[in-house]
Amino acid sequence: MNVGFIGTGTMGLPMVGNLLAKGFAVIAYDAVPSALARAAKAGATAAASSADVATRSDLIVTMLPSSSHVEAVYLGPSGVRDAVRAGRLCVDMSTIDPAVSRRVAAALAERGARFIDAPVSGGVPRATDGTLAIMVGGDKSDVDEARPVLSAMGANIIHVGAVGSGEVAKLCNNLIAGVAAVAVSEAFRIAEGFGVDPKVLTDVISKSSGNTWVMEHMHPVAGLVPRAASTNDYAPGFMTDLMAKDLGLAVNAARELRVPVLVAPAAQQVLRLASSHGFGRRDFTSVYLFLKPSSGDAAV
Ligand code: NAD
Repeated sequence: MNVGFIGTGTMGLPMVGNLLAKGFAVIAYDAVPSALARAAKAGATAAASSADVATRSDLIVTMLPSSSHVEAVYLGPSGVRDAVRAGRLCVDMSTIDPAVSRRVAAALAERGARFIDAPVSGGVPRATDGTLAIMVGGDKSDVDEARPVLSAMGANIIHVGAVGSGEVAKLCNNLIAGVAAVAVSEAFRIAEGFGVDPKVLTDVISKSSGNTWVMEHMHPVAGLVPRAASTNDYAPGFMTDLMAKDLGLAVNAARELRVPVLVAPAAQQVLRLASSHGFGRRDFTSVYLFLKPSSGDAAV
């Protein structure tokens, strides 16, 4: 089976690696030549455009930064919509606005093609291990058809509901993870100020009510979790700008639904500030570096 894969970046590349390892032929495209070259080196066939991928593939996967990139790849010039054959299934694994997922699905339906959203959680380590959590929105028959391909990349594939609902689950999850990253960073800065060993504090919290996945697997303090981005000089991982985007998706959804949200916008602004201080393309846990206390006089 030829799997088309568009967007071979931080997450896409290891996901392509797992598809190849499980015996799928992969036809890849990325707008950045060096990213495409890495996929080709891993064993994928390089395509000339998104349309080229769509023409040559039995099933098309996309793994792109945000809503605008997904709209461009599917609906823009040399995009998937213009080239995809009727009956083909497209699987968008990016984290985007659920309304965009529905819009792209409707546009593809006019061409007789099908679309499901299947965003992921777990970060680069689980993308590399092929054990991502994948939350899927779409018709059950389409989800079942995609399952062998998704199983090559993930360990938990959960059908959430109709198209767009995978994205809803994802933005709810990242609301919690984004807020937790800021909270964990604040807590460890306070502990540091009091001279408490971060390793001992990690031990305490991991057995207490403040325990969180972010601390266990993506610890913002370097050297405590070997596979955490912090231990690799905060190389992403998951970029600060992408987490700020995801919190923005959650905040926008809340606004549309008139759900009051206070903590998510605060965390989003902390990440935006971190970005404006040069941390945007580093891992989101580098917010811990941004929260370094000022070196002035003690608090007044
Ligand atoms: P990334 O920026 O590293 O990779 C995205 C790739 O898409 C890049 O290589 C880029 O060149 C390519 N691209 C952009 N526009 C394109 C276009 N028009 N045509 C072809 N290629 C194009 O981002 P990433 O970290 O791999 O994240 C991808 C998605 O997965 C995002 O939506 C992110 O929120 C989500 N996500 C990331 C992580 C993580 O840990 N990095 C975890 C879970 C979910």
